[in-house]
Amino acid sequence: MTDNSIAVETAAAPVAASLTRHKFRPKPPTHLADMTPEERKTVMKESGFPAFRVRQLENHYFSHLSIDPDTMTDLPQGIRRQLVEQFFPPLITKVYSRQADNGTTIKTLWELFDHTKIESVLMRYPTRTTLCISSQVGCGMGCPFCATGMLGLTRNLSTAEIVEQVRAAALLAANGGLAGGATRLSNIVFMGMGEPMANYKSVVQAIREISALPPQGFGISARNITVSTVGVVPGIKKLAQEGLPVRLAVSLHASNNTLRDELVPMNKRFNLEKVMDAAHDYFLATHRRVSIEYALMRGINDQKINAIELAKRINHYGDNWAHVNPIPLNPVEGSRWTASKPEDEKQFLRILNDAGITATLRDTRGNDIDGACGQLAAKYYENETTK
Ligand code: SF4
Repeated sequence: MTDNSIAVETAAAPVAASLTRHKFRPKPPTHLADMTPEERKTVMKESGFPAFRVRQLENHYFSHLSIDPDTMTDLPQGIRRQLVEQFFPPLITKVYSRQADNGTTIKTLWELFDHTKIESVLMRYPTRTTLCISSQVGCGMGCPFCATGMLGLTRNLSTAEIVEQVRAAALLAANGGLAGGATRLSNIVFMGMGEPMANYKSVVQAIREISALPPQGFGISARNITVSTVGVVPGIKKLAQEGLPVRLAVSLHASNNTLRDELVPMNKRFNLEKVMDAAHDYFLATHRRVSIEYALMRGINDQKINAIELAKRINHYGDNWAHVNPIPLNPVEGSRWTASKPEDEKQFLRILNDAGITATLRDTRGNDIDGACGQLAAKYYENETTK
């Protein structure tokens, strides 16, 4: 466990095993986005350049999304490459991208400096453009229905490895890479590979840089950033005190502890009561409605009794503090967990709505490109190991 993480050891064996693996790994090169503004100035001065060059680099990076020395015409030509090499070491390299939904969804597999892989998904909607990003290589939470969970955890991402996913997507969107023409990246969801609360410090620093106004950040409103957790209670509590109005999404996936112990091993450490209490406290502290994520699995958690139990748990705290997103499960190949029947999805939604709870079936973008969390990377690793 590094000081970069919230303590999340659980009864789930993969957590401990994968954290041990992560301990001795080399760190990614330090990038401008890993440093505080003061640290950037110190490094700049130590390299023999005046501190005001930092503001110029920040402006190229955060305002213009550029790391190309040829565009940095306000810097003397003789030092551009040196500064770019020092402050913008390459951290993510595209392996391949896949399009879906008529070009309005682009899923990208990235290779990191140590040849590990992560993914991000860019999605255009009528009123917003959303990027789903990864916070770890793999995930140590061990949810048995999840492709990323099957990979286990390799390591945490650095702040800059997270921020670089955003810069790359913002540039792609601005350059018209999505069907429909040029657009502005407006929303970020931490719902790719990994448990964001297990990489807390890097995730929060990344959120601050994503939401700060240019030239110190990308200027994407913190209100448009969602942090998704499987229920790491200390992380939820800490995030509530950060003064960041980000939305919290809690992946519940079960309506009672017996079922959740099986579907989400973290439940053995922080059970449903603790998770729901922390989520409601988050709502009280931030006045942001909490999203409850619930992957519907056929015959497992999608029956009438599950919807009634879930509604009771939410209404226990009063009205209108949470929104439920039932998600049709995108089945992982070879897994015994599969998507609900349409009639069961409808019944589930109806019961929640009748209990006064807002619930909308979440759009599952990119299903035809292995769109479930972690599936592209999972498939890549599978192909590599079966070659
Ligand atoms: S569902 Fe989320 S928390 Fe669980 S293993 Fe997958 S990525 Fe990790």
